[in-house]
Amino acid sequence: MPSSFYKIKCKDCSNEQIVFSKASTVVRCSICGSVLAQPTGGKAEIKGEILEELGNA
Ligand SMILES: [Zn+2]
Repeated sequence: MPSSFYKIKCKDCSNEQIVFSKASTVVRCSICGSVLAQPTGGKAEIKGEILEELGNA
């Protein structure tokens, strides 16, 4: 299965950030610290709004 990245918009401050779809650690918004992605052992659970899915370039 190809890995990919998501462009995620933080629900709290509207910051847009690129997050790996299989993040193995909690990914936090670089502006406000809100959780954007939570690791589940496979695909990360995305907490923010997914704006775009970016495949492997
Ligand atoms: Zn934020």
